Amino acid sequence: MTDTRRLRVALLGGGAVGSQVAHLLRAHSDELAGRAGAALDLVGIAVRDLDAPRDAPLPRELFTTDAEQLIVGADIVIELMGGIEPARTGILLALSSGADVVTANKALLATHGPEIFDAADQVGASVYYEAAVAGAIPIIRPLRDSLAGDRVQRIMGIVNGTTNYILDRMDREGSDFAAVLGDAQALGYAEADPTADVEGYDAAQKAAILASLAFHTAVPLDAVHREGITQIDAQTMDAARHAGYVIKLLAVCERVVGGAEGGGDAISVRVYPALVDRDHPLASVHGANNAVFVQAEAAGDLMFYGAGAGGVQTASAVLGDVVSAARRHLAGGVGVGESTRANLPVLPIGTLTTRYQITLEVADQPGVLATVAGILSDGNVSIATVEQTVITAADGAPGTARIVIGTHRALEQDLGETVDHLAASGVVARVVSVLRVEGD
Ligand code: NAP
Repeated sequence: MTDTRRLRVALLGGGAVGSQVAHLLRAHSDELAGRAGAALDLVGIAVRDLDAPRDAPLPRELFTTDAEQLIVGADIVIELMGGIEPARTGILLALSSGADVVTANKALLATHGPEIFDAADQVGASVYYEAAVAGAIPIIRPLRDSLAGDRVQRIMGIVNGTTNYILDRMDREGSDFAAVLGDAQALGYAEADPTADVEGYDAAQKAAILASLAFHTAVPLDAVHREGITQIDAQTMDAARHAGYVIKLLAVCERVVGGAEGGGDAISVRVYPALVDRDHPLASVHGANNAVFVQAEAAGDLMFYGAGAGGVQTASAVLGDVVSAARRHLAGGVGVGESTRANLPVLPIGTLTTRYQITLEVADQPGVLATVAGILSDGNVSIATVEQTVITAADGAPGTARIVIGTHRALEQDLGETVDHLAASGVVARVVSVLRVEGD
């Protein structure tokens, strides 16, 4: 390395991802310097606990609890602490001090993205966040740069590894949600408190980020419709398999042509467990892997697949951003900000039109099916398929039956009202699940 230019790199966070980033920055320093155009000097790692064990061999003198001192004077600040504070304050300080920023913090970007991007614009700096969605998989740069000349029509993403692991095992083994969740926790695929994953909050944050990029629109997190996977039981999984589907927690970001008042385009952004045809590329995403399926007007169908998490895998995406940030920092000039010019309205979930599969538990009595069919017809929901399974009670008491109804395309609002009527009808003991069919 003959180039004598050097950039000061400050790292905030030395956990699962941060320790790997620090290790690779040091272990591959010559290679990275060659690609970046300057030596990347890791000047310190801000953490809470100086004595905590680290996942990679790192000199103790690099660690500090004084993040602020580290940030001021850095050329590139890598934020890998997670959460809102002090990550937000650290990033704003970094930008106002003239640094470019790399972060993997989806929670922060989904809630405070506009504030951070505005702050970067004001000083002409850049914020890179390839690792914030789908870990190692390149998806931010493809959406922001490679597809900048195209019109994205739809994104369907499996962007949460924990839920994909759980649903995949339920599908393959016929196991119940609670049993697989317990295993996933024991194996480290799920947190002790799994709410963020299984209730779809994590996927919703990623959906907001993907939709913002794809549709050049600032999509607030509260505009993302969100449902989790806790209602999916082994029988619902079985019914899906029987009908030729697999259940995946999907982040769907869709352009609705002519969907806005006045006839312009609108967008729909939603996260829920959906039925995906077993022939669809997303059906073959197994275990904790992630995949993002993008449909664009000119490019057609594209699929991005790989490890959605993991310390070293995510570090790959972070380091790619560090090289980009270094090149930009050396080139000088004004960074390229986020494109939100389209500013498309985000539609409420009630306006969605799709196909559904409704699973009901009913009394096994004559006339029940006719009553159910009547309620659906009254609610403008047209039936495509019906399957009934009788569950005989062990003590010989009157049995119950499960009815699985596949519908033609229906309006979400009509469907929701119809399901409420079914639930209140007296013939339905329980609405087991209502799942949308995606990927048509
Ligand atoms: P982590 O293992 O929990 O590490 C967090 C690090 O930040 C720790 O080193 C912690 O210090 C430090 N930290 C937290 N609060 C701090 C504070 N107030 N002051 C100073 N240091 C503080 O987290 P991670 O899994 O590496 O995730 C980091 C970021 O990457 C998050 O935004 C996450 O969403 C994102 N991400 C992670 C993955 C993954 O697979 N893990 C994948 C994609 C994206 P101590 O070590 O002293 O506690």
